[in-house]
Amino acid sequence: MFVLSSPSGAGKTTMSRALMAEDNEITMSVSATTRRPRPGEVDGVDYYFVSPDQFQSMVQENALLEWATVFGNRYGTPRAPVEAALAAGRDVLFDIDWQGTQQLQQTDAASDLVRVFILPPTLAELERRLTSRNTDHPDVIAGRMARARDEISHWGEYDYILVNDDAETCLNEIRAILKAERLRRKRQLGLAGFVRGMLGE
Ligand code: 5GP
Repeated sequence: MFVLSSPSGAGKTTMSRALMAEDNEITMSVSATTRRPRPGEVDGVDYYFVSPDQFQSMVQENALLEWATVFGNRYGTPRAPVEAALAAGRDVLFDIDWQGTQQLQQTDAASDLVRVFILPPTLAELERRLTSRNTDHPDVIAGRMARARDEISHWGEYDYILVNDDAETCLNEIRAILKAERLRRKRQLGLAGFVRGMLGE
């Protein structure tokens, strides 16, 4: 379970898209949200766009692995696709905030969790990126900047901290983390048999 968190605009969505395009061992967890789609966002790809009532039903049916309220909208991770992917031996990438990360940390699967936090180089640069993205109203951007400080204050709850000065460098660092975490002994499930075979045991 590979979590990427960052303040909105620090580059997390770009990173997760790039990773998904090149790595076919990892499945992206598509969240459900009550927020409205931004231009270009596709239902079922970027998010499952649901009504507040539908979201509440998912909560009541225990269909979400974790959920949180962010900027007044509700976001949550559908449980079934994640459990199916993990059971099939796949890695799962989560683009979720610190609240969701804390909840995953409290599940039985916590020992499998890899938590990565992406920082912007500066708050001024973050604001510039949010403004140039031009998909949100200025008051929404102001809200995101306030929220960015709050998100950043949780950096200490993550295993890896990256500064996204340069997108390609940051992506390479994410690839390195993913590679190293996959090489951990506990994640190499066929290893014992492989070594026994090597030793002729
Ligand atoms: P946005 O509206 O910009 O797509 O996302 C806003 C924030 O909500 C981001 O920090 C994103 O990581 C977070 N988020 C998206 N999906 C989920 C989710 O399923 N659970 C939680 N806890 N946070 C989410």
